[in-house]
Amino acid sequence: MKDLILNLLPDQFLRSIKKIYLKMRGYYYIGNKYNCPICEYNFRKMLPGGFDLDVIKEKNIIGGGRRNNNICPNCQSTDRDRLVFMYLKHETEIFKNKVKILHIGPEPSLYNRLKKHSNIFYVTGVKYTEGIYYHKDIDTMDLLELPSHDGEYDMVICNHILEHIINDTKAMSEIYRVLSHNGIAILQVPLSNLLETSYEDYSITCPKLREKHFGQFDHVRIYGKDYVKRLENAGFKVQSYYPVFNDITDELNRFALNKDEKLIIAHKKK
Ligand SMILES: [Zn+2]
Repeated sequence: MKDLILNLLPDQFLRSIKKIYLKMRGYYYIGNKYNCPICEYNFRKMLPGGFDLDVIKEKNIIGGGRRNNNICPNCQSTDRDRLVFMYLKHETEIFKNKVKILHIGPEPSLYNRLKKHSNIFYVTGVKYTEGIYYHKDIDTMDLLELPSHDGEYDMVICNHILEHIINDTKAMSEIYRVLSHNGIAILQVPLSNLLETSYEDYSITCPKLREKHFGQFDHVRIYGKDYVKRLENAGFKVQSYYPVFNDITDELNRFALNKDEKLIIAHKKK
């Protein structure tokens, strides 16, 4: 009966209710222990988030497992979103200079923050999946055939997308192609440091089996230590980033970051 009622309600109405609920939830958790750098609120608690699956634990997949202090109660940022934002804020000039950014599969917290800045020409795209809501301003886009000129963007943000794509070599080369001469791409993926070589088996197509093998029903691989090499083969120079803190334990906790996750920054420059 509950599902029937939900189905009868217009999407717009449900989204408005959800928005009010999230706002109230944000106020409920207001406190002093944690800070979300994206929405800039302080909280007494962050919310749990992520998946609790055997394969994620066995392969120690960074960026995939369930964590207690993960989701911001207000803007719903994840620990990864906050790490990305800290990089953008402290290590780039995107909030000062005019830049053109392509954000594939934009995370809602980052989307809401980046689209506000008038100096950022912000293009977003996603390959639409039935049943998943995306903001109406997000274009339909195929990462294997980006509708962009060579060198069009100063930055591409594409997190947790490549593990869904069988031909990730082509996707990486498309990202490389649309970046400007000194452009950079932020390309996070769920990553296992226990695997020397990425685990992929394209004969596994059943959603249940994909979840069992790769940690999510629509993933086609688990990336291993060779992920960096794959990006280098596409032409990138790869650098990892982690914020520098005065008191690392204190600040890791304050922003509720994942101490094991570093950002993968891919530079186009030769
Ligand atoms: Zn937030």
